[in-house]
Amino acid sequence: MKAACKVDRKKGIIVKDVPVPEIGEEDVLVKVKKAAVCGTDIHLYNWNQWCENVNAKNPMVIGHEFCGEVVEVGRNVKGLEKGEMVAAETHIPCGICFLCKTGRQHICLNMKIVGVHTDGAFAEYAKIPAVCAWKLDKNIDPEIGAIYEPFGIGVHALSKTKISGKTVVVTGCGPIGLFTINLASMSGAKTIYALDLNEYRLNLATKMGNNIVPINPSNTNGSEKILKETSGIGVDVVVELSGAVPATKLGFEVLKKGGAIMLVGLHDNDVSVDFVNNVIYKEAIIYGITGREMFDSWYDADDLILSDKSKVSEVITDRFSLEDTEKAILTAAEGNCGKVIIDIG
Ligand code: ZN
Repeated sequence: MKAACKVDRKKGIIVKDVPVPEIGEEDVLVKVKKAAVCGTDIHLYNWNQWCENVNAKNPMVIGHEFCGEVVEVGRNVKGLEKGEMVAAETHIPCGICFLCKTGRQHICLNMKIVGVHTDGAFAEYAKIPAVCAWKLDKNIDPEIGAIYEPFGIGVHALSKTKISGKTVVVTGCGPIGLFTINLASMSGAKTIYALDLNEYRLNLATKMGNNIVPINPSNTNGSEKILKETSGIGVDVVVELSGAVPATKLGFEVLKKGGAIMLVGLHDNDVSVDFVNNVIYKEAIIYGITGREMFDSWYDADDLILSDKSKVSEVITDRFSLEDTEKAILTAAEGNCGKVIIDIG
């Protein structure tokens, strides 16, 4: 089969022929229809320090956001049949650690990630453990099936607090930020401040629903503007998706006393925050958000997408063939895009 492979610990990606994965007793083999490019794939493409830090597999087939058709089912797998469409939960839980045993498989102590620690899905076929296969409704467009995974992160973040009638700040308008803005709008947020340095993404953000105020911190003092518009009180909810230090600091600055901040974006370095004024005196509620709750976030994502009220399809802006995976990754890295899809089969 054709697959986009990392062949060494250097920058680049090569599309080449590799054997179709052999499944084990607990796995399913999926014929990949559509995949989507994630920030993780950009890290892997560049092979930066993050890849070494997480002990990413190399050589490896990359890619983890995808959906496709089940074409082979392991002997011990129950509840999945050939011909069914599935999307993949990319966090592979061990099933036996304390966190797995107490309902938090998504932060399993021994977690492995598809397309980081195991061969991924920018390929004609992908093998995943059956526990990670989410059965898709027959009416789901495969392109949308491929973005359940990142959409689910937004679902998870906003599940932590009440959004209806609240003021919300979203820092970072990449695909997950766009999904989060859409989700906040669907949940009835009063005002959503969308921050990004990229005008293309800010423009997309304004299409994600109602009462969205785009702010570009490169030409506007976001903190001042948000505090002024909220009578100096700040916002109820902040979702930080950029992983950028200035955006994270801004998030804590504009958070209302008693407000909730969800930290999702990954920072390259430690972040210094004024804990006394922006956390302790504020009684700020801080949530770290990793992936999707398994499978609460998936059930909610499914309901929201099937409701037809979401604007997920508008987040998809670019499409490439498997042969052009490198172009797809470079397009995503450049940033003048929403979600980039790889059309495989
Ligand atoms: Zn575990």
